[in-house]
Amino acid sequence: MWAVFEDLALLGRLDAIVFEGGKAKYIIELKTSRKGLGIFEDAIVQAQVYGLCIESMGFDCSELKLVIVKVKSELVDEISPDKVKKIIIAGLLKNKVKELEKMFSRRLRVHIEDYDRKLVEEKLEFIKDYWLELRGPHPSNNPNKCKSCYYRDLCPYG
Ligand code: SF4
Repeated sequence: MWAVFEDLALLGRLDAIVFEGGKAKYIIELKTSRKGLGIFEDAIVQAQVYGLCIESMGFDCSELKLVIVKVKSELVDEISPDKVKKIIIAGLLKNKVKELEKMFSRRLRVHIEDYDRKLVEEKLEFIKDYWLELRGPHPSNNPNKCKSCYYRDLCPYG
C-alpha cells in the first residue's frame, strides 16, 4: 500500500481492511501493549496515513472508518493476533464492538474514528519536516507515553 505526498513516498502494510459494497469500510490497526490500553496519537495518525494510501490507490473511502485496537500482549499470546483481528471484524460487522470490550474487560480497547483526508494532510505537513530533517523532534508532552518510551533514558524530556 502506498501514496505520494509532496516529496514523500508513503509505504505501509496494514493489519486488516474490510470492504463492503465496493467501498473501503474499515482499516484495522492492532497495537499490543504489556502495560496500559491508552491509544496514542501516533497510532491514529498511522491509521489516517493508511487511509490516504488506500484512497490514493483509487478506492472509495467516503465511508472509511479507522479502527485502532489496543490489546494486552497476554490476550494476543493466548488467542493469536489473527484471532483477535477476526473477532474485531465480526464485532464491527455486527455493530457490537462495545460488547467486545466488556467481554475482554481490561484487556482490549477499541478506538474508532472517521478517515479525514484534510486532517491527515495537515498532520503530514507538520511531520514531513522532521522526516526530511528540516527540524528536530518535538517532545511528546504526554507523561504516559514517556513512561513506556524506549528512548526515555536518553531523552532530555522523558
Ligand atoms: S521520552 Fe522523549 S522521546 Fe520518548 S515519548 Fe517522551 S518526549 Fe518523546
